[in-house]
Amino acid sequence: MSPKAFIRNLGCPKNEVDGDIMAGYLQRAGCKLVASPARADFMIVNTCGFVREAKEESIQEILELARYKESGCPKVLIVTGCLAQRYKEELSAGIPEIDHFLGIADLKNILNIVSSGNGKRTFTGRLTKCYQVADVYPVSRPRSFAYLKISDGCDNMCSYCAIPQIRGHHRSRPMKDIADEAKHHISHGVRELVLIGQDTTVYGSDLYGKQSLPLLIDKLSNLDGRFSIRIMYAHPKGLTDKIIGVLLSGKPVLPYLDLPLQHISDRILSAMNRKVTSTGIKDLIMKLRASVPGMMLRTTYLVGYPGETSSDFEKLLRFQEEFDIERVGVFGYSPEEGTKAYGSNVRVRASTIARRIDTLMSLVQEQSLRRNHALIGTVEKLLVDCPAGEGKVWARLSSQAPEVDGHVLLQGKFRRGTAVDARITDAEAYDLYAEPV
Ligand code: SF4
Repeated sequence: MSPKAFIRNLGCPKNEVDGDIMAGYLQRAGCKLVASPARADFMIVNTCGFVREAKEESIQEILELARYKESGCPKVLIVTGCLAQRYKEELSAGIPEIDHFLGIADLKNILNIVSSGNGKRTFTGRLTKCYQVADVYPVSRPRSFAYLKISDGCDNMCSYCAIPQIRGHHRSRPMKDIADEAKHHISHGVRELVLIGQDTTVYGSDLYGKQSLPLLIDKLSNLDGRFSIRIMYAHPKGLTDKIIGVLLSGKPVLPYLDLPLQHISDRILSAMNRKVTSTGIKDLIMKLRASVPGMMLRTTYLVGYPGETSSDFEKLLRFQEEFDIERVGVFGYSPEEGTKAYGSNVRVRASTIARRIDTLMSLVQEQSLRRNHALIGTVEKLLVDCPAGEGKVWARLSSQAPEVDGHVLLQGKFRRGTAVDARITDAEAYDLYAEPV
């Protein structure tokens, strides 16, 4: 009987890719991937350890799966990902039901763990290089899009962020390896390649000695097949004219950019060590909108950073009001050990942080509803993602990144990856409704 493995992926798409790589190794080694921990011999929680809420969610998940060990059937509980990398001692002491730990460095060790039998195994070395599909392909998912992790780790050292201490220095993947993975996904019906990393603008600076994102996109654009490319996690400090040029190049790159800004007050941007100024950010956005037709921007804001005053927050609110960034995520500051901001004693009260998140999200929701309403009656090209039941499918506009920007409920039965011209019939703040034309 081939052993059965269940994987629960938590956190960001970069961690999900690691989970798919581990699944790829297990599948190739003859393991059967199952959708329920009850049927599994090996239960893997691929954790997130970025901020407090994510850590709590990961621990909840570990405890929930640990309960399956009480079923009397021998089950092995394996904790992987950022929380394992960062807190293995604490987890081991606090949750004795955990059998093995695997950090983010060498995912292949999942095979050593499943073939190790008894005795706790721990693999949490530092990340030295990114995974390579030359070794194993991530399992394919029945989706119209695929995350293409082009690098891992980060050297930007933002004062609130624990990623550099968890995932280590920036590491780019060789271009050929990324192109091979892209070919693999395209051959499995993927129509959208979503480029991810901690900061995609610095791709290649380590491996090729210079920023090479435009070159990588060139290489991907020459692959056979009908697909588009979406750039996520582009730090504004690294967004050069060359990268903007790629958005204009006629290559299959969507006029969409995920540009995490975090804040707009110069005092807070400097305290966060973001290496950009409010003027620089505003000029960049105006340049993007002036030069790229149909440009759509996504960003994330971090409110409640230590020392943030109501006037700092007012600046952020006014900025979003004026620049109306189309897609927005808002997060509250979470004190993280080992980060520069952790020791600060000018903390913002949790209630104030919650109020500021609400205020900003209400503005964003209002703006998004107005924007979506303006689409009613227009005909848009949609990419079909998956069935939604009752003779409908979930689809997306090219201005909607998967899993974060809302989607379109489209009448009719269409295969995933199909491009459909559809008339928008109704709108909500984030989702839309459409019928094919
Ligand atoms: S760019 Fe800043 S926030 Fe993003 S992963 Fe790097 S250090 Fe963290």
